[in-house]
Amino acid sequence: MIHQYKLNGYNIVLDVNSGAVHIVDDLFYDMLGCLDEQLTEKCPDWLFQRFEQGHTRQEIEETYQEIFTLHKADQLFSSDDYDKFAKMMVPSPVKAMCLHIAHDCNLRCKYCFADSGEYMGHRELMSAEIGKAAIDYLIKYSYGRHNLEVDFFGGEPLMNFDVVKEVVKYARSLEKEHDKLFRFTITTNGILLNDDKIDFINREMSNVVLSIDGRKEVNDPMRPHVDGRGSYASIIPKFQRLVEKRRNGQFDQYYVRGTFTKFNKDFANDVLHLNSLGFDQISVEPVVADPSAPYALTEQDLPEVFAEYERLADIMVKRAGTKEDFNFFHFMIDLDQGPCAIKRLRGCGCGNEYVAVTPSGDVYPCHQFVGHTDWKMGDVFSQSLDFERKKQFASATVYGKKECKNCWAKFYCSGGCNANSMQYCGDILKPFQLSCELEKKRVECAIMIKAATL
Ligand code: SF4
Ligand code: SF4
Ligand code: SF4
Repeated sequence: MIHQYKLNGYNIVLDVNSGAVHIVDDLFYDMLGCLDEQLTEKCPDWLFQRFEQGHTRQEIEETYQEIFTLHKADQLFSSDDYDKFAKMMVPSPVKAMCLHIAHDCNLRCKYCFADSGEYMGHRELMSAEIGKAAIDYLIKYSYGRHNLEVDFFGGEPLMNFDVVKEVVKYARSLEKEHDKLFRFTITTNGILLNDDKIDFINREMSNVVLSIDGRKEVNDPMRPHVDGRGSYASIIPKFQRLVEKRRNGQFDQYYVRGTFTKFNKDFANDVLHLNSLGFDQISVEPVVADPSAPYALTEQDLPEVFAEYERLADIMVKRAGTKEDFNFFHFMIDLDQGPCAIKRLRGCGCGNEYVAVTPSGDVYPCHQFVGHTDWKMGDVFSQSLDFERKKQFASATVYGKKECKNCWAKFYCSGGCNANSMQYCGDILKPFQLSCELEKKRVECAIMIKAATL
């Protein structure tokens, strides 16, 4: 399978199965569009007739031979070797946990999937006992795996920061005995940040996600305080301080993460705004929402959103290697080796390598399943885990999803978000088409950026 497209003046060809990317001239591009994997060594006569206008016979012959040589080298129309890995997919140890330290929040974001912290239940903070039992649970089901990840999540985790500290201390105290190394991360809206919390986070958390949507006029209507005031002015100086202090510390990873909606389809301006504030690790992601919500992106918005992704990609190419260079997470792609086979086929690992634990100790496949009680997988009190459910997620590969199997972006997307599929299509194996279209555009842009900045 190949995918060919034009972007930013480049003719780009992706050979899906080998992952090879070719930047080609117009004749190569147009000729390839007429061919399939049934190539013969001899250039077919009809190709000469098709391209005789504007090209010599020798040019046509040489271009065809170039295509044929790449095919022979398994870099064009290469065969699909991943199918066999898909059949071998077995459940893995649990290696990562999303710890819902607070089902409460001090903001009321309009698009909040977490129901502003309630998750279709009630407001609740996790106790230290449950946090510790969750760490025991992770140790138990990680079996022999050494490196483990815990993400402190909410609602807003800073509303229960003493428990965050206690859980970190507890986990660290068990590392030696169980031969584990914990890597902590935290996702915060920043409202309650102060120097003490910043110092703790920068000392203990190997990554930190700072939530903000971008420009004040974009952020404030969508991310207000409980009393309706915008949050931009209170969080920007705190985020800047955290990042500044983090630059020379043990851990320097962070990113500012925003959401764009129908109201800011010019979201590249939000990315640039965040960059102008001194942030160089940026993620601004499309809202995923019921189409009836006023801020939801719909199919009609796609042309504008695509054009904006292209504009952002072009800006990134122009800024590459300059002082204004920045990372945009959704354009980061590894073309050299790609992710490992398992990750290519199975993606995020939800419900298999990754679970979420609620303040009451219930275990779910991931944070976006929380509150959908049919999907509960166990609890940390009884240390139970539904292995049938785990198997279901382990085998939810791109080859088990009809649409994904024949999708050119499958090895970069890895089958999309199971939670969105469940919520908007009623089945974890049915991708949410709107997200697919956006993902494919992002992969196209990411490949172009790589090609242009090599
Ligand atoms: S900060 Fe997060 S949890 Fe709180 S309302 Fe906003 S999106 Fe929801
Ligand atoms: S873009 Fe959609 S169809 Fe393609 S692999 Fe991703 S989820 Fe599957
Ligand atoms: S299912 Fe979706 S929300 Fe859940 S971990 Fe995977 S990508 Fe994230």
